[in-house]
Amino acid sequence: MEFSQEDMIEFCRTRANILRQKYIEDMENKLTSFERKMIAKGFRVCWVTDEDDLTENILSQLPKTPYNKVCFDLPDVPEALRTSKNIRPVHYADVESGKSGATYLFVQAEFAIVETGTLVLLNKNSKNCINSIPNLFILLDISKLLNKTSDLETILYLRSQAQEQHYLPEDVKLINRPFSLIEPNFTDPSQGYTHTPVQITIFLYDNGVTDIMQNSILRESLYCIDCGKCKTVCPMYAYTKEHTPINLVRDNFLHHATDTEHVIKNAMLCGNCDHVCPVQIPLCDLILKEIELARQSHPGKSKLANTFDKRKKLNSMNGKFHRFFFNKTMYGKNKMLYNYFKQQQDPFYNILWTQENSENDK
Ligand code: SF4
Repeated sequence: MEFSQEDMIEFCRTRANILRQKYIEDMENKLTSFERKMIAKGFRVCWVTDEDDLTENILSQLPKTPYNKVCFDLPDVPEALRTSKNIRPVHYADVESGKSGATYLFVQAEFAIVETGTLVLLNKNSKNCINSIPNLFILLDISKLLNKTSDLETILYLRSQAQEQHYLPEDVKLINRPFSLIEPNFTDPSQGYTHTPVQITIFLYDNGVTDIMQNSILRESLYCIDCGKCKTVCPMYAYTKEHTPINLVRDNFLHHATDTEHVIKNAMLCGNCDHVCPVQIPLCDLILKEIELARQSHPGKSKLANTFDKRKKLNSMNGKFHRFFFNKTMYGKNKMLYNYFKQQQDPFYNILWTQENSENDK
């Protein structure tokens, strides 16, 4: 029996969903085991709850002198760190040239493997400087661990499928033991090189993960592997450039937990994200559930939510007339969104779409 590439990808997606579930459901034990392994190997491990805690922790580890040279290779550098008078940010290109005098490098690990106690860094700008600075801070989201090395293969394959050109990550750096800073021995050139251990601190970053863990419905959003695919297919994001589907689910829960209106205004529930997510997170369903949760806690704020519920009815109406008015009311001011919706032939409400498709599959 031959399998097509689509079958292979579907198989991998199902596998990825299961392996992510296995880690998330047993996160507490796995994290403890990972921490123990890393400490035994000689890494320093710090637990940080949120951005303020992270900033405070980092600053407490720097000498109390102004302008410590720090190279940040993070997607988002906390504002308080970037503007702290104790820190002078240094560009990684300057570090690479060897003339920056930077003493700290701060990078983010995309994943870590519990089984082997390994940090996984993908496509870092600072990839050539990792072992040329005496202090290395590594930020690791506590939801981004994988149980086994074989899990990493599946995840990297799926992340590459999410890229337009299906590139595998160009640079995968695995850190599973401390290493040394190797420099020419200036005092005694006959001795060749000096080896000074790099001080590596791992920051296990909660950033709302344990709050989401308490919510049995939204917990699935923690399966995310940050491939960015849902963002690329989201018509709302293309228009606003504000909230990716996964961020909408997570950030709204964490920061505006009762803001139904915010969710509705930023989600069209077209279902595109559901179909592409490599770990099969049912993003539309999560958004719907979140709206429902918000409505239950704030029944007074239900005007928009009621409008939204009409989508479900609209799908069964199947009439262009109703669609036209619904679109006009909801998205009439946004030409792009309006046109997008006008062209859609599928039902708006993805649950119905899913049901129809699963019935057809039988
Ligand atoms: S939620 Fe979005 S970013 Fe996360 S894995 Fe799914 S498609 Fe990728």
